[in-house]
Amino acid sequence: MVTTIFLPEWLIGEKYVTFATWGLVLVTLILALVTLALVLDSRANRREQRQRWIKEDQDHLREHEELLQRWKREDAVRDSAADPKADFGLRSNRGGDFTLWSANLGTSSFLLVRLRMVHLVGEKQDQIHEFEPAIVPVGQSIEIRLPTLGWQDGNWEVYLALRGPQREVTTSAKLYYLLFADDRAVRVQTDLRGLETISCPKCKVQVTNFEMGGLASKADVQQELEQALGDLQRSCPEHESSSPRVRFPSYIRG
Ligand SMILES: [Zn+2]
Repeated sequence: MVTTIFLPEWLIGEKYVTFATWGLVLVTLILALVTLALVLDSRANRREQRQRWIKEDQDHLREHEELLQRWKREDAVRDSAADPKADFGLRSNRGGDFTLWSANLGTSSFLLVRLRMVHLVGEKQDQIHEFEPAIVPVGQSIEIRLPTLGWQDGNWEVYLALRGPQREVTTSAKLYYLLFADDRAVRVQTDLRGLETISCPKCKVQVTNFEMGGLASKADVQQELEQALGDLQRSCPEHESSSPRVRFPSYIRG
């Protein structure tokens, strides 16, 4: 039995089939283009997202780095605020010894560690005095008696080494002229004076005396010494100098 289905003419007519086919092609093409556009768009979105993440990561890193730097700066400020700040001085006492005083001007207690003396002209050995542990509380001042044994006459730079909660620091130098008689300190002055023996830098022979009076700072001393020593070296072995500070002993002048 054959069943015949009657379809309307507009559905099966040849020109309608052609039309429908082209329609399908067109729709497929449009779908393909839309899909392509979606794919490209999502790829662009992913790239954008990734760049945003990278940027956020970099921002976080930078914030972290800034935070670390700030902590370091704050630590350094705290450390240096805790460093000992002191004034000090030397004077002779009735027993013929020295009295060292030290005042705590900082914000934390410190220990006196040692006193170091450096000869201003450089001919004599450094002298170092280590202390028995002595604590100087904030806002207070202490005095220590120092024996004069082994100390030498002359003009010296004096430093104090102090131990604070974080580290040991050295004070800036003070200049002293010291004079002894029978191992007793008979003069302790903060102005430079007297004659220091100096040597020819070339032949190392002690040739002359150098006037220290009127020199006010280490820089002054170095400047005047440089001139005198330069003269002596250039004129070796006659050893002459035009410096008014240089005093030739009579046996050299002849
Ligand atoms: Zn010489």
